[in-house]
Amino acid sequence: MNQLQLVDFTSAPSPCDMVRAADVIVVNSSAGKDSQAMLDYVAELAAEAGVSDRVTVVHNDLGTTDTGIPIEWPGTADLARRQAEHYGFPFVITRREKGGLYQQLRNERLKFPGPGLGRWCTSDQKTSQAMKVVTRLAKEHKRSRGLKVYSGEPVKVLYCLGLRAQESPGRARKPVIEEDHSAWSDLRTVTRWNPILHWTETEVWDRIKASGVPYHPAYDEGMTRLSCSLCVLASRDDLIRAARLRPDLAAEYAALETELDHQFRADMSMADIIAAASERQKEHS
Ligand code: SF4
Repeated sequence: MNQLQLVDFTSAPSPCDMVRAADVIVVNSSAGKDSQAMLDYVAELAAEAGVSDRVTVVHNDLGTTDTGIPIEWPGTADLARRQAEHYGFPFVITRREKGGLYQQLRNERLKFPGPGLGRWCTSDQKTSQAMKVVTRLAKEHKRSRGLKVYSGEPVKVLYCLGLRAQESPGRARKPVIEEDHSAWSDLRTVTRWNPILHWTETEVWDRIKASGVPYHPAYDEGMTRLSCSLCVLASRDDLIRAARLRPDLAAEYAALETELDHQFRADMSMADIIAAASERQKEHS
């Protein structure tokens, strides 16, 4: 049974009513442009509704390789913190206890994630970790009101994500609001909200520039997305650019391809990406 239930949009509340109705508002931030624009938007709505004190920003840190090279773009977690602090919101960083993305790949999964191979990178490294924060915040909400954790009305959690329809056909099929019944319990209800789902990239950048809040310098290097520098879902162009900008990380992924005897992606290996990056480097020099 599908545990995500679409909300009837014809009777859906306004964005301001969405935040006003929530007891706990969790904003997921990768520190990328879409998260950043979404955070700015939610901050405005929360201020308008007088519920800014209900917002917490969560960043899921994906860890480093065994030699200490960050999987995300350097400075990402710190940027996510600064963005949250700009709005005065509490900030939480999560890390998977059993290991980051590289360790999970090398020691547990033994295959790169991706289409047809499962998106365990997102579910295990991001969603599961963020849900632990949701649980903690829901408990704190009850206790702060002198209530027993598992009695009475469940805490209403609004779980905000910066997904945009333009990014992929899969995202284009997502609704703006979904009730996540798989995350419901006596403690909490969780409503997933994609408030900028139908924003264009131009609208995202306009919002960021108007806010004056710093964005990640990788965008000025030509990257179109942030999060993992070498994302299994990225375009070939972004991957080649990332391999040029982060040759040490690309080399570690290529070595892992050999060790696991499994290609980074069905349509291109990390070795191919590195070779293309090297060609492009020659063209530019
Ligand atoms: S950025 Fe890409 S590789 Fe990294 S967790 Fe997300 S989907 Fe997986």
